Amino acid sequence: MQEDLTSQQLGAYVLSIKLQRSFCGKVGALGDVDLSPGHYFYFGSARGPGGLAARLSRHVRMKKTIHWHVDHLTTFGQVTEILAVEGGDECDLRHLAMQLNSISVPVTGFGSSDCPRCPAHLLASEEEASETLFLLAGKTGGRLYSAESFLPITAAQPSTV
Ligand SMILES: [Zn+2]
Repeated sequence: MQEDLTSQQLGAYVLSIKLQRSFCGKVGALGDVDLSPGHYFYFGSARGPGGLAARLSRHVRMKKTIHWHVDHLTTFGQVTEILAVEGGDECDLRHLAMQLNSISVPVTGFGSSDCPRCPAHLLASEEEASETLFLLAGKTGGRLYSAESFLPITAAQPSTV
């Protein structure tokens, strides 16, 4: 499945982000943000050079210059899974996700400064994150990846034995 994103496909994506500890910090114009430990989803799109593959590789890297709101979380917590939807729209994905159970907006405006449609592009999930992403994949025709799929390979490939 991984070869699907080695080209420069454009579209939308959902990051599943796990926070083991509470996040307390300043997030751009939002000011102080407090997030409890748990599962979060971030909805974004990649329509520029490099497409989804380049954007998702950046999201899973721990070391980066903080640019977007979500960078505060991807450098603090752990991106576990990714749903990529070629030709998708992040606001439509967010809307679909909010129709699922136990999904809420933890911080109004998080990740959605430029979006007139959404209360936030970050959602909190009380349910197991994998299950929600699986449902979203089924509804959108998107593909699920582990975050490791986007990390550069720095060690020799493990033996298959
Ligand atoms: Zn939106």
